[in-house]
Amino acid sequence: LQENIARAEDYLARFRKQGVLNRIGGEDTAAADGSTYETISPVDLKPIATVARGNAQDIDRAAKAAKAAFADWAAMPGQARRKLLHNVADAIVHRAEEIAFVECMDTGQSLKFMAKAALRGAENFRFFADRAPEARDGKSLRADGQVNLTTRVPIGPVGVITPWNTPFMLSTWKIAPALAAGCTIVHKPAEFSPLSARLLVEIAEEAGLPKGVWNLVNGFGEDAGKALTEHPLIKAIGFVGESRTGSMIMRQGAETLKRVHFELGGKNPVVVFADADLERAADAAVFMIYSLNGERCTSSSRLLVEKGIYDDFTSLVAEKASRIKVGHPLDPETVVGPLIHPVHEKKVLEYIAIGRSEGAKIAAGGAKFDGPGGGCYVSPTLFTGANNKMRIAQEEIFGPVLTAIPFKDEEEALALANDVQYGLTGYLWTSDVTRAFRFSDHLEAGMIWVNSENIRHLPTPFGGVKNSGIGRDGGDWSFDFYMETKNVAFAT
Ligand code: NAD
Repeated sequence: LQENIARAEDYLARFRKQGVLNRIGGEDTAAADGSTYETISPVDLKPIATVARGNAQDIDRAAKAAKAAFADWAAMPGQARRKLLHNVADAIVHRAEEIAFVECMDTGQSLKFMAKAALRGAENFRFFADRAPEARDGKSLRADGQVNLTTRVPIGPVGVITPWNTPFMLSTWKIAPALAAGCTIVHKPAEFSPLSARLLVEIAEEAGLPKGVWNLVNGFGEDAGKALTEHPLIKAIGFVGESRTGSMIMRQGAETLKRVHFELGGKNPVVVFADADLERAADAAVFMIYSLNGERCTSSSRLLVEKGIYDDFTSLVAEKASRIKVGHPLDPETVVGPLIHPVHEKKVLEYIAIGRSEGAKIAAGGAKFDGPGGGCYVSPTLFTGANNKMRIAQEEIFGPVLTAIPFKDEEEALALANDVQYGLTGYLWTSDVTRAFRFSDHLEAGMIWVNSENIRHLPTPFGGVKNSGIGRDGGDWSFDFYMETKNVAFAT
């Protein structure tokens, strides 16, 4: 651990010294009005760096830089764009350790998971790079006296707004397809976790990305974020964050008729029937709520268990939860690190208090954890004896807190699973294949895994229904968002 901390300090030294500047048109720039803010580490609550706090003026400069770079970038042959984006992926792999260590200290996510996050980011670039040459291909449709050619063209400069939970991976997930499609971008990362976004734009430019194709403006949602969603040169907003922020962005973008793509919150059920492989189901349920500190949109935060096995199964989960290692994010054994920020820690602890006052029982955790550095640690928590009306069963807590609810039969399980405002993911455990088909057909979620935790396959669609999102990423779906479909009819 001490060795890792020393290495992290080496990587953080430049941020401590120079701070985090915006990157506009390939140039490092302070905020136009000179504003800054401090970003702190959730490990010890001490400042890591002074960050440029961009506002509408900085967004305007960045949008103009993205607009100026658009024509050449959009005109670049797909094969050339493919090669360049593979170079970006290579450069990410080359700096994977730096990215992982910086991300751990900036977000509190553990090295166990962040070590792979950089590689997953590189994979995102490779996946969309390989599809760049064909992104514009369409089809031809014949009619009497007419041949129609349908193609796609990049929509223009786009805004990408990302949250703090796994900022590096999520930024690559949104930005790689935009670039592969031929769009230029302005990225506004989350204010709590600005460091890896800064590494990412540098890496891309060092790998050969032309100036102005990718612009970075740090700042707060209510000024920089809002200005980005309102800017007339920005044609679309790819947003990942809370559902209520999505509503605000929709309102803010209405005046300029912004195209929006939303990946929002979740209150995802894991449904366990008595006929399931219970040991595997328990491991998966534990993994899906406590990995990534529970700060994960796809986390299974409601555990719905068939009555006959409820007591045994929740005891098994409680036992596994209490054995989870909570600690310094750079300790290779740590699973749960400190939560992102004291403000968020307070929210999670408040929900634990709410759960108690609603009458649910704490079967594991249930308190702040006294971890190294005195940061925002919360013990992996399991509530039992809960019902679906409780706030801990309805509202997104976004921390290591699981709410277990019993059900009597399939019908009740489905009713409980669907009785929330969200619909991002669902996890179903049963050995009855017919039931799995029937149940998943009626489960209101954009993505469902049967007898599995969340394992992503990049060509499949990613996104939610109800208040969990609008639109899909992955495969060709990302290109549909970042491109316009155009039809040309030729008389014959
Ligand atoms: P958030 O909505 O508070 O912030 C996300 C981003 O939006 C930040 O960059 C913020 O500065 C910006 N923002 C805030 N107000 C804005 C405004 N008025 N206009 C423009 N931008 C604004 O979310 P968060 O707390 O950073 O992240 C946690 C949330 O993200 C959770 O709800 C989680 O479920 C969700 N999330 C969803 C997915 C998914 O794929 N569905 C993935 C990860 C996180």
